[in-house]
Amino acid sequence: MPADPPRYKRILLKVSGEAGAGGEGFGIDPKTLERVAADIAEVVREGIEVCLVIGGGNIFRGAILAESGMERASADYMGMLATVMNALALQASLEKIGVYTRVQSAIPMAAICEPYIRRRALRHLEKGRVVIFAAGLGAPFFTTDTPAALRAAEMGCDALFKGTSVDGVYTADPKKDPTATRYDRLSYQDVLAKDLKVMDASAIALMRDNHIPIVVFSIRERGNLLKVLKGEGVYTTIA
Ligand code: UDP
Repeated sequence: MPADPPRYKRILLKVSGEAGAGGEGFGIDPKTLERVAADIAEVVREGIEVCLVIGGGNIFRGAILAESGMERASADYMGMLATVMNALALQASLEKIGVYTRVQSAIPMAAICEPYIRRRALRHLEKGRVVIFAAGLGAPFFTTDTPAALRAAEMGCDALFKGTSVDGVYTADPKKDPTATRYDRLSYQDVLAKDLKVMDASAIALMRDNHIPIVVFSIRERGNLLKVLKGEGVYTTIA
């Protein structure tokens, strides 16, 4: 454990759609989402302001639909709508355990959530509400990594936490290569030069230019988010 654990006032947590899916990585599993929500609630109760971005890969990924012949832009809009469904599901799980939330969508959908308004989102955070940013950038040809980085910068977050199915960044895919080793710390440049598959290059570059560290950790274990926030446990820092 570091001598002086990091102190965060405001963070952005990015999880992929799979984080809320069942065993097959498809659809929404309320039990799994409840576990993620419990982790988030723990952090909110510590007084940390939390922004959330959830992907949509458990429902639709534009690039995959495009491979089977659909026009890429249309497929990506479907992917963005999938992120809205996940955002609403996560909102429901959080509110069930008493965490106040707002969903803001980059594609206005007045009947179900707020449109993305930066100053309004900042106000929600100041009031202790969790803000879930949905529909990515509202533009195709992106994944949710770049919107996560953009919102982290816009909201003045101290760090971007990327919750994945592994506990950090490895030299190779640890699920395929048993000799792979985990990095404790990497520079943005290392990630870009080694083409490590952490996040899209545009997201890494945005974090580098705005001096916002990225913390990659496992969202699979209950209680891990708070542990990592306190500088305990296993994770990789990119700074
Ligand atoms: N998407 C998009 N623009 C954005 C964000 C997302 O077009 O700004 C689409 C894209 O098709 C993407 C899908 O939404 O594949 C779901 O997001 P992502 O792949 O990031 O989900 P994850 O892998 O994190 O579950």
